Amino acid sequence: MLFVDSKDDSSLLNMHSSLELLQGDITTQKVDAIVNAANRALSGGGGVDGAIHRAAGPELVRASRALGPCDTGDAKLTPGYNLPARYVIHAVGPVWQGGEKNEPTLLASCYQRAFEIANTQQFKSIAFPSISTGAYGYPLAKAAQIAIDTIMTALETSSVEKVVFVCFDRKTLKAYQKAYQQWTAT
Ligand code: ADP
Repeated sequence: MLFVDSKDDSSLLNMHSSLELLQGDITTQKVDAIVNAANRALSGGGGVDGAIHRAAGPELVRASRALGPCDTGDAKLTPGYNLPARYVIHAVGPVWQGGEKNEPTLLASCYQRAFEIANTQQFKSIAFPSISTGAYGYPLAKAAQIAIDTIMTALETSSVEKVVFVCFDRKTLKAYQKAYQQWTAT
């Protein structure tokens, strides 16, 4: 587990903000909200979406479907039901189509929208998965850089004090650790 503090401690708001990168299963995170890598219908699916729906129970699919469809790059909030997390923020990442279809902006927007919802709700802790890098095929290194840059910027003006970035496998963890190192070097 890597524990790192936000490098910008100039503001009282983010003096205590932190980013934790770890390898694990996001469904076990006891935070105010976990973020789901959802599909546009918010209907549940495979990968992290399937794991979250299995752990939350059948009420989640009813609640999320009722809120769908959700635009790519946007996010919507439901309760967490049987999850240890109080809420789920369903964010719809872009499908990778070669990089010329606005994918970087849409991926950054997922993280930004998740923070906007978290700020509105005054959440203090939030956990993210690696949005779009599974079935949606976004190249891992590129996605990691966008995620880390966007999260670190959003943390500067957020109610969120703790971000847990949950990588399912070692390769993904390595990519996000590298992106974080690059962020600290800028
Ligand atoms: P997308 O369709 O947005 O690409 P996927 O669920 O296919 O979403 O993959 C996104 C990432 O989530 C991948 O890195 C995948 O390994 C990871 N993942 C799958 N299950 C879990 C889980 N239980 N906790 C955290 N991450 C997970």
